[in-house]
Amino acid sequence: MSRFWSPIVHSLIPYVAGEQPATGDIIKLNTNESPYGPSPLALEAISKATADTLRLYPDPTARELRVTIAESFGLDKDEVFVGNGSDEVLAHTFQALLNHDEPLLFPDISYSFYPTYCRLFGVAYRQVPVDAEMRVRLEDYRQPCGAIILPNPNAPTGIGLPLADIETLLRDHPDQVVVIDEAYVDFGGESAVPLVRTYPNLLVIQTLSKSRGLAGLRVGFAVGQRPLIEALERVKDSFNSYPLDRLAQAGAVAAWKDRDWFERHRAMIIASRERLAAELGDLGFHVLPSSANFLFARHPSRPGVELAAELRSRNILVRRFSAERIDDFLRITIGTDEECDRLVAAFGEIL
Ligand code: PMP
Repeated sequence: MSRFWSPIVHSLIPYVAGEQPATGDIIKLNTNESPYGPSPLALEAISKATADTLRLYPDPTARELRVTIAESFGLDKDEVFVGNGSDEVLAHTFQALLNHDEPLLFPDISYSFYPTYCRLFGVAYRQVPVDAEMRVRLEDYRQPCGAIILPNPNAPTGIGLPLADIETLLRDHPDQVVVIDEAYVDFGGESAVPLVRTYPNLLVIQTLSKSRGLAGLRVGFAVGQRPLIEALERVKDSFNSYPLDRLAQAGAVAAWKDRDWFERHRAMIIASRERLAAELGDLGFHVLPSSANFLFARHPSRPGVELAAELRSRNILVRRFSAERIDDFLRITIGTDEECDRLVAAFGEIL
């Protein structure tokens, strides 16, 4: 605290990211990165861009990347906005598109960055409790609001909502922006991107951090109709007119085009998830049904804080949360099968 701080700094609730150990024999299952990848073609493109063009400023419009993403969805490049990770895209969304007086609705439990951004950008918000099974209940969103943001699948529960529910939400709120945060959609969720042309109030946000194995490159994007994308561009141009550096643009284009790598690796992660869920079930865990690259699980006889500490002492990192209702849960990122085997073996010793 300091007398030099502005009032807004006093009111912030900074987001605490998961531990990022530097090196060593650590099994890192705490921040939902891919245990594989990225595509070798992305690495090649990054090396080539480093050697050939790093002395030059990047393309401020990220044209090639936007065209590449847009074409894959049958959209136009002006319906795609790119940024440094979906966290930055979310930041611009909160600034550009959310009504500051009427509350933004999002689930309680949900991505813990949302309240942080609401405080930072002065957006009023109301959290809507999930039900006893930790599911988002559509009828609870039938209330006056300024906008809605939902991760689908939700984080940290991993539970997905069917597309029909998203469509109902869009119809129920024609005058509000509905943001669907699809960070984990490639692991079994249903994407709302095909609805973009029909609903002018829909913005879908995705990332290359998870299913493309590029968390370190920081590339995320939003798709929506032009007026929404134009608002994001205005905020970006008033803040930092270079959306992505040269290496990120080159690597992201190559990663996006490598469909074969993408399909193979997401299938591997889904298969490992199903195997790990069954094994945790055998150990007595209650595991929520996941459509993401992580599992949200609780053991009836041991508090999450104890289990996480026991795992940490065995060099295995998982995520736990201190919020009410979920303080006994562990969120476990899906690793390689070998990493998952070591996790299960560690639980075998601990339990
Ligand atoms: N949305 C959700 C729901 C997330 O869990 C994450 C990852 N922590 C993000 C967005 C941000 O991911 P990135 O900035 O790496 O694209």
